[in-house]
Amino acid sequence: MPTGKHASDGDLLAWEDGSVNGARRTWLASHLESCLVCRDRLAQFQGIERLIQEQFPLIDDAESQKEILERMRVELDGKCPRDDESS
Ligand SMILES: [Zn+2]
Repeated sequence: MPTGKHASDGDLLAWEDGSVNGARRTWLASHLESCLVCRDRLAQFQGIERLIQEQFPLIDDAESQKEILERMRVELDGKCPRDDESS
């Protein structure tokens, strides 16, 4: 297993919607358990996905969603303080 390699955005999205299987899933599960960086990114995706569902409910196309995600992620990186305050 390669070390120092993080899950890709696609991996995290697939994990989130349950479409990752087999060895990939096993790798992700153990990686997410040990990697705070990827857990943090996954948490961001989970929040962003909810936002997308609320704001762009008609977009059901993975490519478009990815574009939006990418844009929102850049905004989040600039705006959100990196603390553990969840509510
Ligand atoms: Zn990672």
